[in-house]
Amino acid sequence: MPLKDGYGRNHDYLRISVTDRCNLRCQYCMGEDGIEQISHDVILSYEDIIRVVEAGAELGISKIRVTGGEPLVRKGIVSLVERIAAVPGITDLAMTTNGILLGRYAEELKQAGLKRVNISLDTLKPDLYHQVTRCGDLDAVLNGIDAALKYNLEPVKLNVVLMKGINEDEVLDFLRLTIDRPLHIRFIEYMPIGDHDCAYRDHYLPLSYIEETAEKAGLNLTPIPLPGGAGPAESYALEGAKGTIGLIHPISKHFCNTCNRLRLTAEGNLKACLYWQDEISVRPVINNKKALQNLIKNVLTSKQASHQMAADGACGSVKPGSMRGMSKTGG
Ligand code: SAM
Ligand code: SF4
Repeated sequence: MPLKDGYGRNHDYLRISVTDRCNLRCQYCMGEDGIEQISHDVILSYEDIIRVVEAGAELGISKIRVTGGEPLVRKGIVSLVERIAAVPGITDLAMTTNGILLGRYAEELKQAGLKRVNISLDTLKPDLYHQVTRCGDLDAVLNGIDAALKYNLEPVKLNVVLMKGINEDEVLDFLRLTIDRPLHIRFIEYMPIGDHDCAYRDHYLPLSYIEETAEKAGLNLTPIPLPGGAGPAESYALEGAKGTIGLIHPISKHFCNTCNRLRLTAEGNLKACLYWQDEISVRPVINNKKALQNLIKNVLTSKQASHQMAADGACGSVKPGSMRGMSKTGG
């Protein structure tokens, strides 16, 4: 029996935030001093994460994404990947990472069974990268991208959050990155998540900007069939390019009607939607597979039809539903 919610949407995808900690402080994700961290004893153990994956897999979950915070800062992450990959029924295992530590871990992750990575990279300028992430070294990420390609963690996708006044002048540089290397750029709209809605209002740009910029430059974005694991992206390619371009518009063209995701937060709460506050702890039922499976089904019965993130509204008007930052929920 597929895992359906009240709107008939089939759920086969679980995103697991393995930590709320991070080695960067991206401006759109965290405050300058980071976040108030969950104490180590409250973070769900690997044993318990595997229990959730096993229970979910029996209900039809087949795709897992490991995320955070920064997943590669959690100790023993390779062993978790190996254990998830071994769960019967899991056919797709991906990770979202800032790529800083990927040069060190790519080979081991591949051997452990990780299939592919999304690497977050919002600018190709070293100084700006340092500024946006408040401490990051661009060379480390570029090294991580090379390692992901070398060890076939493919398709290698680069997540680029489009930000007015910050990186919109680099759109063509990102588009051209797809020509010579099999890199899949995924532009993402800035979301009013967490408590930085004023920054959101200053920097949000709808992704129609990408299409307009390509057109002005004479670059033809040809629609293509969705590549493996494309999710909600609209996909395009430049002529003769080795990579592709995806546009993910959570705000201007939301894709909630095809949502297939559940989320497990670092402290072990199941969430049916990134936006809404509703979440239920798996801890009370973690040792009872039947009860855990019932809880997974219950989370879905209360899933809302869509989020309520909108581009309009004044500074300070972000709805409480989205106050939990991305690093805490798992992006
Ligand atoms: N640390 C990892 C990374 O940065 O890839 C994984 C966690 S991060 C929260 C996951 C994704 O969420 C990243 O691609 C990041 O760019 C995105 N993200 C964070 N805050 C966002 C926001 N306000 N709007 C859009 N995307 C956001
Ligand atoms: Fe860390 Fe990822 Fe958030 Fe940046 S987006 S602060 S890398 S969790």
